[in-house]
Amino acid sequence: MNREKSHKLYEAAKKLLPGGVNSPVRAFASVGEEPFYVRRGKGAYLFDVDGNKYLDYVASWGAIILGHADDGLVREITSAIQEGTSFGACHPYEIDLAQLITEAFPSMESMRLVNSGTEATMSAIRLARGFTGKNGIIKFRGCYHGHVDSLLVKAGSGLATFGIPDSKGIPGDLAKHTYVAEFNRLESVAAITQKNEDIACVILEPIMGNMGVILPEKGFLSGLRELCTAKGILLIFDEVMTGFRVAYGGAQFLYNIRPDLTCLGKVIGGGFPIGAFGGRKDIMDRIAPLGDVYQAGTLSGNPIAVRAGIYVIKYLKEESATYGLLRRRGEELKAAVLECAHRYEIPYTINNVTGMFTGFFAKGEVNNYDTANGSDRKAYEIFFKGMLNEGIFFAPSQFEAAFLTLFHTDDEIAKTLNAYEKVFRNLKGILQTESMQ
Ligand SMILES: *Cc1c(COP(=O)(O)O)cnc(C)c1O
Repeated sequence: MNREKSHKLYEAAKKLLPGGVNSPVRAFASVGEEPFYVRRGKGAYLFDVDGNKYLDYVASWGAIILGHADDGLVREITSAIQEGTSFGACHPYEIDLAQLITEAFPSMESMRLVNSGTEATMSAIRLARGFTGKNGIIKFRGCYHGHVDSLLVKAGSGLATFGIPDSKGIPGDLAKHTYVAEFNRLESVAAITQKNEDIACVILEPIMGNMGVILPEKGFLSGLRELCTAKGILLIFDEVMTGFRVAYGGAQFLYNIRPDLTCLGKVIGGGFPIGAFGGRKDIMDRIAPLGDVYQAGTLSGNPIAVRAGIYVIKYLKEESATYGLLRRRGEELKAAVLECAHRYEIPYTINNVTGMFTGFFAKGEVNNYDTANGSDRKAYEIFFKGMLNEGIFFAPSQFEAAFLTLFHTDDEIAKTLNAYEKVFRNLKGILQTESMQ
């Protein structure tokens, strides 16, 4: 596959953008590759500047559930743009979007629109701290909530240690308020709350997507809900990835849990920059101008993003034609890929939920940070490169989810399986040679 033009663009980009990119994973560094440059997208496919075509399982990190450049969506936003791109003032569509969201997520009685998932989690945490008058927050190792200072923290080692920032530039004085617990280990949360009275909130991805897909075990989310209620701690579900993705009502619908606050993003903007946070009305009423927790945004509730979101959410309401399809195709893909891995004796596990999945090169079950982290990164790198050369674009990291769009039809699934067959056959040869050395 020739990527000469992409290579030249990457060289030019590196002079102007740090690492050549506007978001780090796009550099493909962890799989030892160079990025391709996208010319356009349509349906389930991306087309690069060299004329290559890729079946896209990154799908803008899950944001474009209708695929690229959906005809109806393009018509809707084209007409929206004719009426102005930003008002900095109230407009009726923001009420329509909020209405659709609250119907799907009844826990979000009141909400505010922002411009990204990061903004949503940042604001939700400020609100939780303001509302409870406490400083501490509990997050889970491997959960990603955007690049918010307080949330770019994971444990160095062991359970429930003080937060050590993952990034330079985050004051230790701030990170020390972040406690890190283990996903699917309720006792790791209890251990923190027993020792500390100063906890404002627990924030998590109710279905982990940013360590690869990891599902909550039975009793974990309900246990968290009970613990938070008992201690007066706010429970925040970060559904930026799972909202309108795993079900119309997100993970909180699937597991029947009512969080105090929820963060959304990705799907609700139909590919435009957007985020939202919302929840209990008594908590949300603490936000300015009603209350004493400040939060604002010049482009918040942007009319183009909002109208794109309305279009997508209305579309998704047709359960059998949307989530039903995503579920069926995801299950078919999973079964066939596992069969293929088994035939080639490749240690492989797939975690999946409607519309998203991760194949881990791991022997046993993957149900928390450690078991995910034990995956064979080298095998993933070979897999990634092999699939890319077959024209299939998976995320350039083992620890990400793959996403189906509504344009990943039975033909695309068949095409994907053909590529798995070739890539796994080749991988088996490589793994055998390695084990003989
Ligand atoms: C993507 C993501 C974010 C961050 O959203 P941005 O729009 O990239 O700022 C936060 N939380 C989760 C769970 C995400 O998947």
